[in-house]
Amino acid sequence: MENPINDIENQAFEEIQAAKTSEDLEMVSIRYLGRKGILTAFLRSISSLPEDQRPDAGKNANLLKTKLEKAIQQSRTTMKANKADNGPEVDVTLPGRRRGHGSLHPVTQVLDEICGIFLRLGFDIVEGPEVETDYYNFEALNIPKYHPARDMQDTFYVSDNIVLRTHTSPSQPRTMEKTDPPVRIISAGKVFRCDSDLTHTPMFHQIEGLMVDENISFGDLKGILTTFVHQFFDDKTQLRFRPSYFPFTEPSAEVDIQCVMCRGEGCRVCSRTGWLEVLGSGMVHPAVFENVGYDTKKYTGFAFGVGIERMAMLKYGIDDIRKYFENDVRFLGQF
Ligand SMILES: [Zn+2]
Repeated sequence: MENPINDIENQAFEEIQAAKTSEDLEMVSIRYLGRKGILTAFLRSISSLPEDQRPDAGKNANLLKTKLEKAIQQSRTTMKANKADNGPEVDVTLPGRRRGHGSLHPVTQVLDEICGIFLRLGFDIVEGPEVETDYYNFEALNIPKYHPARDMQDTFYVSDNIVLRTHTSPSQPRTMEKTDPPVRIISAGKVFRCDSDLTHTPMFHQIEGLMVDENISFGDLKGILTTFVHQFFDDKTQLRFRPSYFPFTEPSAEVDIQCVMCRGEGCRVCSRTGWLEVLGSGMVHPAVFENVGYDTKKYTGFAFGVGIERMAMLKYGIDDIRKYFENDVRFLGQF
């Protein structure tokens, strides 16, 4: 070794320059200045040098020791300052964190799908107020005060004559008052009832349909609803019309579909009957036409109402209606 001190110095400064983290610096410090470090070893070896070389070697080695200590300290300070400027160290090799995608609520998806089917069948979409007068919610639909049918639709009263609508049916008289036949509309939105259990929530969604023209028959009602069910589920789904009673239709029919879970075999969902009740329908009652000034001799029509949550439950196999409104993204994210 010609001049070992110079070699040590060059090597050490190269390493200080190359150090990227404070851990790197610590390693350099240990390698040169530690108990078994290169410079430490050199200082110890001075005693074995020829006597005339010892003073210079000792002086240079001690100078270098001070120089290295200073350089390492300085580097450490600079590193700290940079780190403070740039925030925490970032590992650029880690995969990025994706931002979760939102999705439409299953009720909204099914609502859109059903509206789409009826739009393609030539129906228009109308909207009505969620806070409704007693007249449009009940009386115009042939449900006078003290009529027992009001019991089935107990609701929230804002005042004596203002209620939260119990169905989307008020859009029937509201539309017919403003339009002459032919009428072909659907109306979708929130409705309210004093109900809460596995299959009922105080607020749920309904779609109402109304078709009025000359010569509209029960056959038209059956045709439209069959097309709707076949498009929404599939065209093998069978329908069953059961006589029923609604004050604003005559005759009235509940529509059952063949259970989509068991294909009619009988299961827990359909209470072993093989059938599921999905909507109410019927021919518009002449009293409703009279209320809006339509000529009952000239015009006939049909109306129906579908519960959206119910349709979504059947389509996606959901067993508890309350899951829709608990805002659990683990549930909602599946759709
Ligand atoms: Zn079944």
